[in-house]
Amino acid sequence: MTAGDTDSSGTAAPHTHSPADVLAAYDTEPAGLSADEATRRLADHGHNEVERGGGRGALDILVAQFDSALIWVLVAAAALSVWAGHAVDAVLIAVIVAANGVFGFLQDYRAEESLDALRELTAPTATARRDGEATAVDATSLVPGDIVELSGGDVVPADGRLLEARSLEVDEAALTGESVPVSKGVAPVAADTPLAERTPMVYKGTNVTRGSGVAVVTATGMDTEVGGIAGELAGTAETDTPLQVELDRLGRVLGIGVVVLAALVVPLLLLRGTDPVQSALTAISLAVAAVPEGLPAVVTLTLALGVRRMADEDALVRRLPAVEALGAVDVICTDKTGTLTEGEMSVSRIWVNDSIVRPDQSAEPPDAERVDQLLRAGTLCNDATVEAGDPTERAIVAAARERGIDVATLRAARPRTGEIPFSSERKWMGTVHDDAVYVKGAPEVVLSKADRVHTADGPRELTEASRDRIHAQVGAFADDALRVLAVGTAESADVVERDAAGDPADVSGGLTFLGLVGMIDPAREEVAGAVAATQRAGIDVKMVTGDNARTAAAIGATLGLGGAVVTGRDVEALTDDQLRDRAESVDIFARTAPEQKVRILRALQAGGHVVAMTGDGVNDAPALKNADIGVAMGVRGTDVAKQASDIVLLDDDYATIERAVERGRAIFDNVWKFVGYLLSANVAEVAIVFIASLLGYLVLPAVQLLWINLLTDGLPALALGVDPRSGDVMERPPRDPERGIVDRGMLGLVGGTGTVSTAAILGLLFLTLGGAPSVTPYVTTMVFTAFVFLEFEKLYVIRWLRETPTLSNRWLAAAVGGSVALQLAVLYTPLADSFGTVPLGLADWGLIGGLMLAVLPLYLVVAYLVRRVTVGADG
Ligand code: ATP
Repeated sequence: MTAGDTDSSGTAAPHTHSPADVLAAYDTEPAGLSADEATRRLADHGHNEVERGGGRGALDILVAQFDSALIWVLVAAAALSVWAGHAVDAVLIAVIVAANGVFGFLQDYRAEESLDALRELTAPTATARRDGEATAVDATSLVPGDIVELSGGDVVPADGRLLEARSLEVDEAALTGESVPVSKGVAPVAADTPLAERTPMVYKGTNVTRGSGVAVVTATGMDTEVGGIAGELAGTAETDTPLQVELDRLGRVLGIGVVVLAALVVPLLLLRGTDPVQSALTAISLAVAAVPEGLPAVVTLTLALGVRRMADEDALVRRLPAVEALGAVDVICTDKTGTLTEGEMSVSRIWVNDSIVRPDQSAEPPDAERVDQLLRAGTLCNDATVEAGDPTERAIVAAARERGIDVATLRAARPRTGEIPFSSERKWMGTVHDDAVYVKGAPEVVLSKADRVHTADGPRELTEASRDRIHAQVGAFADDALRVLAVGTAESADVVERDAAGDPADVSGGLTFLGLVGMIDPAREEVAGAVAATQRAGIDVKMVTGDNARTAAAIGATLGLGGAVVTGRDVEALTDDQLRDRAESVDIFARTAPEQKVRILRALQAGGHVVAMTGDGVNDAPALKNADIGVAMGVRGTDVAKQASDIVLLDDDYATIERAVERGRAIFDNVWKFVGYLLSANVAEVAIVFIASLLGYLVLPAVQLLWINLLTDGLPALALGVDPRSGDVMERPPRDPERGIVDRGMLGLVGGTGTVSTAAILGLLFLTLGGAPSVTPYVTTMVFTAFVFLEFEKLYVIRWLRETPTLSNRWLAAAVGGSVALQLAVLYTPLADSFGTVPLGLADWGLIGGLMLAVLPLYLVVAYLVRRVTVGADG
């Protein structure tokens, strides 16, 4: 028996019982549960959630902080210190390890929290009947006995027994592997019917592809079929982003490097007669120096905070890796209607009987009766009201009302007996009524089904000449950037072809052409600017629309998208290779169906592009899944499209994509900055300790290095993560996706600045030694303190390198100020004993200041060269 067969409050095998029995068994009725009852049942059954084991609890996060090779190196270091008689060192190492751990924990924890909050934001909703009203509820709050309404594009929110089904088809591939959508009905089936054939049941997590229905919820959460196989789904839990993987690898490489270095240094020192304790301590210092302790936590937090900021700007990121991929996007394929345009349409011209009518003019049109007939047909073949529904359809309803047609009365008098719903492939829809059939859709499709045309003298044969005239009119409307729809009718339902179940499936001919409706849908105000900004950023913008080629071209022209228009039919005629070449240069694809979108996407990807693609319908899901960044529409989009996407646009606006790309780039920039900064510090630390030890001096003991890493990896690095975007972030070409974060520029930066600070600190070492045979606490203090200050100086140089305004980040100023204060605390309080430092005098500070001044031009030269290298490499 499977989980769906029984339920504590319901009936065994609801698919075998009638709807009435199932309602009774779940103690509910078609009007739904009361809100109170739903709350009570929620307490009994728990939330409608499938646990995937992906989320991490606080304890997991805490433990993870101490579960790394580095920690073991440090523990070994502490043990060695004890053995060497440096108990204070051991304690300090322990304290600093703990501090690093707590710090890492706080960062990771906050990151996890941000992501949780985001998961909640993107959680699907469901339509449940509560207190007799259809209400949008959080899908996790559904309980057994709830009555839910389903329609095309919904993700089924829980397991349920259907009470009503109208042309309902569900894609159950997620559960059964069956890729063809299955038809649903309400009749009971035999008890031993396999899951895939239980027609009166719907299952959580599957997709409604067509039609509509009403179901009583029979199982929720882990009791659902998908809950039963949740273990198998664990593989779909969040994975690390490419950046996190790369940094992980980097950490490991550094770890191995350190071991090798230590293995070289210790025998070398012993050979030179250094005492074993000293040699061991040097090895410890090297180990501590090489590893940027804070890195993984800072990266995760930076990505998570970035995601939060994007959410504030109406772009919900559903998967963390998308943040990085955004920075590498070099082609954006976008819908037109509602994304580039307002999506708020109004009928601006109507063509009937060879004359054009402007509905906004108050004078009675010349052919009022035919205009009204067209609008009545358009209103009946329509699912919208003036306030709600598809914008195209709302525009027609609004125009009808303008003409004084009472929409509700009309619809009540002429009820629908069947329908062929609109789809982007079909590009038309039809409704069947007792005495007529109405069709509206793309003009070429409607015309292909028509053999007569309505004229002042009634229906006449649709001659080639009148077809040509109509086509010419469609073109003229389209050239004015109007969206054009045609309306047709038939007096009897005989023209309708039906499927095996008797439902209407097609109308292949026999229509009378009623006329054309031209709708204006202006481009969104900010879009032209946003398109130009994306193009400046080296990103190709391509409009991929279902609309007519000439309308697309006319709108495209106002947005700076021009050139040849390729239609879906052209796409069909091209081979994959030809399409790859063509897609490169074409800005506008018109009359495309969803499967052609996928081909265009593949062609662009085959050409080496990183593609962001928008979509809203069920059929867009494959394109959204396959795109490097799938962008779903938050308002118009179906649940299925949203679930398949990486990013959901809350406002459906193209400009939001542009802003998200900008933010994605800025985040990557910030990660680049602090990775470079941390690595450069670590390289300098290793080089200084290594070279000095070979010369016989032990500078920067382990505690001081840990302290430096804490000061630099800690607050300042974190503050760099929220640095404002640099001025040129959208003036640069996109990042090469093949190139990781450690690119040529970073190597130059790390090598260059690392060399400068190493040389400067070693110079200072010899200056302060003044010929003494070994380091004194004073020398150590100078080296230690100068190193910290040179690091802060470097930080600002790196920001300059990325054109970040110097004083633009308050957090950074506070972090650096705080870190300086901490350093002073070490020098001038009893802490000094533990760190082995002495207070510095004014002259010493003068020396450190002088060193900073001397180093500045060298840092700047390195930064300048790196900037040239990176720009050269990108361009
Ligand atoms: P985009 O792909 O940019 O969103 P679009 O809205 O034109 O543009 P589709 O929704 O695929 O793309 O529509 C394709 C065509 O189908 C439209 O150009 C129009 O001719 C027709 N059409 C759109 N909506 C309806 C509707 N509700 N009823 C009938 N026909 C429609």
